[in-house]
Amino acid sequence: MILGSTGSIGVQALEIVEANPDKFRVIALAAGSSNLQLLADQAKRFSVPVVGTTGDRDTLTRMLGNTQVIDGAKSASDIAAIACDIVLNGISGSIGLGPTLAALSVGNKVALANKESLVAGGDLVMAFGRDRIIPVDSEHSALYQCFLSGKAAEVKQVILTASGGPFRDRIDFTDITVADALNHPTWSMGPVVTINSATLMNKGLEIIEAHYLFDLPYSKISAVIHPQSVVHSMVEFIDGSTIAQASPPSMKGPIAYAISGANRIAKATAPVDWNTKQSWEFMPIDGEKFPAVELARRCGELGGGLPAIFNAANEVAVDAFINGLIPFTKIVDVVDATVQKLGGNSPITIGSLSDVSAIEDDARVLANQLVQERK
Ligand code: MG
Repeated sequence: MILGSTGSIGVQALEIVEANPDKFRVIALAAGSSNLQLLADQAKRFSVPVVGTTGDRDTLTRMLGNTQVIDGAKSASDIAAIACDIVLNGISGSIGLGPTLAALSVGNKVALANKESLVAGGDLVMAFGRDRIIPVDSEHSALYQCFLSGKAAEVKQVILTASGGPFRDRIDFTDITVADALNHPTWSMGPVVTINSATLMNKGLEIIEAHYLFDLPYSKISAVIHPQSVVHSMVEFIDGSTIAQASPPSMKGPIAYAISGANRIAKATAPVDWNTKQSWEFMPIDGEKFPAVELARRCGELGGGLPAIFNAANEVAVDAFINGLIPFTKIVDVVDATVQKLGGNSPITIGSLSDVSAIEDDARVLANQLVQERK
């Protein structure tokens, strides 16, 4: 089943399903309210028996006829708890955590594109066991594949690659527009992750994601700029050997690998064309230009509720930027100030989904106040 079916990941997953009708059958879809027509079209096209939406039930039912419709704020979690071979969670934002936990709690495997599930509730998610989650995030899919080359005890460090986003070479950040920030040089993704790539918040979130997914201390997780986005990440082993996973930037590869249960689907994505000249660059991240990466690492190391606060504040700040309320440079500023103010009171451990929700609510209220102050 596919959660977030009308988003970038969901749409590409359905293209993979369509190209491989012998391998996949979609038993349920869930999506928000923003594109009910597309959700209805998907359900009809793939003869899906159950559909969840946070949008209007009657409207969707009218479009669908005989299909069962589940509505409401918890609809994605209800859908996720239907037994199936694998749940693809392509929801954007920490609202994806509930459905991830719902899927795991009934024994489903999760192909996880929703990195916020791990950032906001990593301990809760990983308590279900490491073998139940296959990452869809391209960097983590790469690491997952590279890890197959050695034993966990032989890993020296992992190196996440970052394209550097549209502002890698930009000196002056003061008058960046929303259109500038949405213009990603190598990847086509949803708006929030695209803005997160421009601030490098995305890389910060992915460092925390890697910590939980692979049970690595933060000292063993680094990140490097790689503008071509062909090497998706690397694992360096203790003998000095580095294993990298490479393919031209497309989410089809990692999505297909994950939804097939870590198997390789023929022609999932175009390979590197070795008959044309390749030039791959790697360079360190400028921490002064992109403070989000170190801020995320600090929040990750302190642990407890801090990564959830970090992520919730960022969701508010990105939304404020997209809506023209704050300039680009204030995104990290709002997140930093929220973390500073709430960090001292944050719990050491997160025991439940409601703990996460309570922390996030506090972070959102404060981040919204800080946005108003910075208008
Ligand atoms: Mg990624």
